Amino acid sequence: MDARTGFPVVGMVGGGQLARMTHQAAVALGQSLHVLAVSADEPAPLVSPNVTLGHHTDLDALRAFAAGCDVLTFDHEHVPTEHLRALVAEGVAVHPGPDALVHAQDKLVMRHKLAGLGLPIPEFAEVTEVADVLKFGFPCVLKAARGGYDGRGVWMLDSAADAESAVPDLLAAGTPLLVEQRVDMRRELAALVARSPFGQGACWPLVETVQRAGICVEVLAPAPDLAPERAEAAQELALRVANALGVVGVLAVELFETEDGVVVNELAMRPHNSGHWTIEGARTSQFEQHLRAVLDYPLGATDPVAPAVVMANVLGAPVAPQMGPDERLHHLFARFRDAHVHLYGKQERPGRKIGHVTLLGASMADVRPRAALAAHWLSHGEWLDGYDIH
Ligand code: ADP
Repeated sequence: MDARTGFPVVGMVGGGQLARMTHQAAVALGQSLHVLAVSADEPAPLVSPNVTLGHHTDLDALRAFAAGCDVLTFDHEHVPTEHLRALVAEGVAVHPGPDALVHAQDKLVMRHKLAGLGLPIPEFAEVTEVADVLKFGFPCVLKAARGGYDGRGVWMLDSAADAESAVPDLLAAGTPLLVEQRVDMRRELAALVARSPFGQGACWPLVETVQRAGICVEVLAPAPDLAPERAEAAQELALRVANALGVVGVLAVELFETEDGVVVNELAMRPHNSGHWTIEGARTSQFEQHLRAVLDYPLGATDPVAPAVVMANVLGAPVAPQMGPDERLHHLFARFRDAHVHLYGKQERPGRKIGHVTLLGASMADVRPRAALAAHWLSHGEWLDGYDIH
């Protein structure tokens, strides 16, 4: 409890953009997020006064941080599960708890669990030697069970030769591996839900996530041309996962849409890139909802506030733009009076998520190109050709 405000203290492990945006939501609720960050120049420490510097793999650092917090939650999945179990045994409130979070940390554990629940997932197998991949067949997808993000830790294999060149080095480096069926998908979707310890659940509309080179570049809300019964089934699936795993907080279920329905790709138990659109596009943002859930407050309404919402990530350009970020923002605002800009205070590096832009409007056809143009301008300092903008 913060004696100055009378509010409980939420501590978030990890100082990235998710912590930064959760802090923004905490401020509106009369609170201030406490952050455990590795370095003072990460996105959240740049804006939060309550920062502890320490590493998320150091149990003593976690312990000392938790001592000043009422609830511990996360900006990423990289805290060792055994450290979380130790904290829970010592009486720390950890949300989501390690028994739930392990399913977002370890893709093999998650695949086994979802298979046990009878949920649709790609066929998969554990890999402990090259022969496991050869037996599985091609084309397939090799994945690191732990530690991957933004497509790092995912390898598309087309042949035995691919497997033989990739697998031995990974195994020698101690990377736990699994192999999966290459799903023939129409597109990628995400179901975002939240669950509180009380057991209340809430879900936002299904969204389409557009990926390039394994990185999410755009989120379209709601997912265009999605049959209502398919959307509803996916929402029910996500709520079922949240309940079955005992998730507390936001849960993102990344999905592949096929001809027959959806299959689950992976889970994240924290605010997620596929939910950034909710800051301006829904009645309650995923960041506020995550705080409400971990504090066991009643959850907020999740309705969208416009017929079409598009979030476009600002990814660092391959070549640093000549124009500085301040000047780029100035020009952006001159051209788009309705762009909602979020910049994370990160150094620009090629392909790195340094911010996002959200636009709301009457139709996807209107909003999507404008969001893409705005995000490209912010990252590259040049206007994309071929867009008809008004
Ligand atoms: P990460 O944890 O790095 O985000 P993902 O498991 O989400 O990795 O995979 C990254 C991307 O790779 C996905 O968004 C999708 O485009 C592609 N991908 C992953 N698994 C499969 C699969 N089984 N079949 C086809 N494409 C896949």
